[in-house]
Amino acid sequence: MSPTPDFGRVVLRRGRPREPLSTDPASTSNSELQPMLRRPFLVSATVMAAFSLMACDPGETDASPDRTPGLGAAEYGIVIHGGAGTIVRENLTEELEAAYHEALRAALEAGNEVLEAGGSAMDAVVAAVVILEDEPLFNAGRGSVFTSEGTNELDAAVMDGRDLDAGAVAGVTTLRNPILLARLVMEESPHVLFTGDGAETFADQFELERVGPDWFYTDARWEALERAREREEITLSWHMEEDRMIGTVGAVARDRSGNLAAATSTGGMTNKRFGRVGDVPIIGAGTYASNASCAISATGHGEYFIRNVVAREICARMEHRGETLQEAADAVVMVQLLDHGGTGGVVGIDRDGHIALTMNTPGMYRGHFLAGGEPFTAIYADEGDGR
Ligand code: ASP
Repeated sequence: MSPTPDFGRVVLRRGRPREPLSTDPASTSNSELQPMLRRPFLVSATVMAAFSLMACDPGETDASPDRTPGLGAAEYGIVIHGGAGTIVRENLTEELEAAYHEALRAALEAGNEVLEAGGSAMDAVVAAVVILEDEPLFNAGRGSVFTSEGTNELDAAVMDGRDLDAGAVAGVTTLRNPILLARLVMEESPHVLFTGDGAETFADQFELERVGPDWFYTDARWEALERAREREEITLSWHMEEDRMIGTVGAVARDRSGNLAAATSTGGMTNKRFGRVGDVPIIGAGTYASNASCAISATGHGEYFIRNVVAREICARMEHRGETLQEAADAVVMVQLLDHGGTGGVVGIDRDGHIALTMNTPGMYRGHFLAGGEPFTAIYADEGDGR
């Protein structure tokens, strides 16, 4: 028997590849919700970039019949997040705030460089997420939280809006950049999602950088696990009151050809057990992209995002109800999720280049870099969207 696994039509290449609740805001029955929606920190941020008004060439795209951007839309752009949650000023020093801004900016610049040069939305989101995965501040890649066994199990996904192609991995333990493996699943296998040992075996076919447990070790993350064990609870990274706020990372982009892509990567939840998989690698829950509507990357309590199929739900509302990206994001994040008790946020970009950064939490590490503009980064909800 050959030790080489059979991946069906996989072409194995060496080396990295190039590239009963109301959903109507007006009819919510949650009495706590309406006051929350009025709080300043819950102002969700819609950005309709008032920069480039250049229309893209309809002939260059292959999925959407109407490629004419609306007023205020960006010809190309990238939007990112580094996790949403109870992120409040009292818990962050100026130095830490500056470090987050710097990391977000570096990711935006990497993505923008790709887009500005005419590269694809997929290349841009992967470039941005790789940078965030390598940054220990965030709960992804290097900064991933610990499981109950003291290990690190990472989830990641990518989706290409051109053809609904998608790739994801769950519970990987040795990949420095799980987002690169997710992309390989999409491009080099007939499958969408590989988990655990199978994902590791798939990775063996490529020259991806592998790391040992030390790569993921930080005192802060280990102490967080110990505290969670003491309290016997499973915590979201960003729910740890006294811990440094960290979060899942993600990016969405629209390229000059009008194509959309999404990428999300996470270490999941501190003290998670028994092969728990969150929303990130579940296509439609934490990650989704379709040129027919929008690209979404989510962050928050994964179980709620899975049950509400958050990312796809936002796109579906645009496609079937004719809602704008912001209307759809508000309905799902600010109403539907909250009705269920789900907290978190999303970043999105639509087929015309409008963007949304929406959270039902006091903060979300976030930013955007849109054609003709400057990079914008923010942490707290009351910082708005930079316009
Ligand atoms: N959504 C991630 C998960 O549940 C956690 C996060 O966004 O911080 O795995």
